[in-house]
Amino acid sequence: MLGTILHGPGDVRCEDVPEPKILHPTDAIIRLSATCICGSDLWPYRGLNQVTSPMAMGHEYCGIVEEVGSAVTTVRPGQFVVGSFCLSDNTCPHCRFGFQSSCQQREFMSGAQAPLARIPLADGTLVATSELPSDDLIPSLLATSDVLGTGWYAADAARVQPGSTVAVVGDGAVGLMGVLAAKQMGAERIIAMSRHRTRQDLALEYGATDIVAERGDAGVAQIKDLTSGIGADSVLECVGTQESMTQAVHCARPGAMIGYVGVPHGVELDGQALFFSQTGMLGGPAPVRRFLPHLMDLVLERKINPGKVFDLTLPLADVAEGYRAMDERRAIKTLLRV
Ligand SMILES: [Zn+2]
Repeated sequence: MLGTILHGPGDVRCEDVPEPKILHPTDAIIRLSATCICGSDLWPYRGLNQVTSPMAMGHEYCGIVEEVGSAVTTVRPGQFVVGSFCLSDNTCPHCRFGFQSSCQQREFMSGAQAPLARIPLADGTLVATSELPSDDLIPSLLATSDVLGTGWYAADAARVQPGSTVAVVGDGAVGLMGVLAAKQMGAERIIAMSRHRTRQDLALEYGATDIVAERGDAGVAQIKDLTSGIGADSVLECVGTQESMTQAVHCARPGAMIGYVGVPHGVELDGQALFFSQTGMLGGPAPVRRFLPHLMDLVLERKINPGKVFDLTLPLADVAEGYRAMDERRAIKTLLRV
């Protein structure tokens, strides 16, 4: 079959790969309904994470179960399922505490930019729908697998409350999903920091009430202006650079929580500045599995439309163009038809 392999910076190819097989009794094989490219796939693509050997790309997935291992009991062939990019047993102490992304048996999904994928820990990882969803819901269901789940976790970790004021740093797909999540959680004011017109428009559609186009100190000053000098109750940091993290800390009011889901690259925080900021931080890889049933219900009931974040759709064979378009910011997020 065809699959997506990253050979080195800027060198991603759709090529012949072996079909996945059941390796452990707890595995499942799914036939993907669609797959996509993640903002985090751009880190190795840009050479910011080292690529030492060819990498099978893709960790966002939904589709139909083809086959299950002998120990799998909660899903069966023919069911439509979604799973998280973190594979988890959903039974260990960390899973039961709601942090499935730190599961004692955690593995990270790979190889999902392909027509078939092996899902380890299928019982703990996959959530099945009661019937096959209609085709137009596939992009939104795919979004629950990572991008929406991650934006949702940022809002949850930042303790967004009904009536609160939220600042979202980052206008990538995750930041936009953070806006959607904050709106669903009842935030009254949602300030999206974005310099790009198409992303600003989507942020407004997802529930942003204000747009701040400035960055750095000027961006922080704008947020202070918009909040009578106080700052935001909750801040969602969805980038992972020194600039974005500093911005997040500076626009949080004392007592605020910062949910940070951009994987930090070269970020250093000053202990004393953090001490006097009196802000709390919770982040890391999102425990998407915790939110998955709820998010899938919201999609199936057509209460949210996270699939709109895909503004480019390509066949799997054109995956290299999908990476290029996201790298050059011509696309927010690429959906791949398999
Ligand atoms: Zn676990």
